[in-house]
Amino acid sequence: MPQTLVVKIGTSSLTQPDRGDLALSTLARLVETLTQLRRHGHRLILVSSGAVGVGCARLGLSDRPRRLATKQAVAAVGQGRLMRVYDDLFTSLQQPIAQVLLTRKDLVQRSSYVNAYNTFQELLKLGVIPIVNENDTIATEELKFGDNDTLSALVASLVEADWLFLLTDVDRLYSADPNRNPNAQPIAKVNHVDDLLNLDIGHAGSAWGTGGMQTKITAARIASDSGVRTVITAGKTPENVAAILDGADLGTQFVAQAKPENARKRWIAFGLVPQGQLLLDRGAVHAICQGGKSLLAAGLTAVRGKFQASDAVILCDERGQELGRGIVNYKSDDLEKICGAQSEQIADILGDRSPETVIHRDNLVLNNDPREPLTIDR
Ligand code: GLU
Repeated sequence: MPQTLVVKIGTSSLTQPDRGDLALSTLARLVETLTQLRRHGHRLILVSSGAVGVGCARLGLSDRPRRLATKQAVAAVGQGRLMRVYDDLFTSLQQPIAQVLLTRKDLVQRSSYVNAYNTFQELLKLGVIPIVNENDTIATEELKFGDNDTLSALVASLVEADWLFLLTDVDRLYSADPNRNPNAQPIAKVNHVDDLLNLDIGHAGSAWGTGGMQTKITAARIASDSGVRTVITAGKTPENVAAILDGADLGTQFVAQAKPENARKRWIAFGLVPQGQLLLDRGAVHAICQGGKSLLAAGLTAVRGKFQASDAVILCDERGQELGRGIVNYKSDDLEKICGAQSEQIADILGDRSPETVIHRDNLVLNNDPREPLTIDR
């Protein structure tokens, strides 16, 4: 059955380790694999890093720039070169491609989120493989995806993909760092990302996962919570993507969770950037999680952060554990005044025209519950 696949490849898989030149044979095998999958009827989106790396090689820079403006300028040089190489390779197999550059801001605004969705659907209908990267040249520090792992997960959520493949420089996750711990076990299947919380999976920038395993796990959480099966596998063998679709036990596979029921709720959960936190008392947690109710001011115990009405916030229980996210009807200054107040007191404190709920049920998305335990290959 044709499926929608998002495949993300990182700079470390696309470039030679020493000089930053492109790893042409890997790129060619990636292009062949994706084209073949397309010919089998699958819909494909490629999320490719490499703009900064290729830009550095083109300009003869030996180190990746640190300054934002320099990085953005170098990305502008590299992105065009990168697309030129992809277009040459895909064109030799008669596969049309498109460039889609996104910023975090594009997903925060509901109208541009829906627009991006429509454009992707149209491209996929036309049989095109969109190649996505962050629009590094204009993304601002506050509203950056920051890494293409997160970007690819948000794209997979946006297009309601069946699969997200994170191609990286390790073959799969291990229960500890295999370079330091001889007892590290490969992890074949993860039923829920929370099962990994107690493992020493590796840190950003660790030698055994250049992009850092943490960003991959964050991406796996976003994607699997959106109902997308997510796989971490080796970038040097992109053929793995086709093999895994045929059932091969490769990489680390994350089970897809039940996804938020509609597209608007997925946007609330994953498109928006939360600006604050609301802490809830036990009664409110019960009313929301078991009773399917809206959030009222009476159930609030604390308000954290500065936000405006209509911003997204994170809801937490008394221990600070995240329960879900929602769009709030009050700005933080007003919420602080009515925190814990009964509904009939609110008009006296803030005036008659105050909204009835702090977060209406329709604007609230709860996290999924953890499921079965972790499966470790022995
Ligand atoms: N957008 C960056 C680039 O193309 C990559 C970000 C990342 O490596 O995750 O160079």
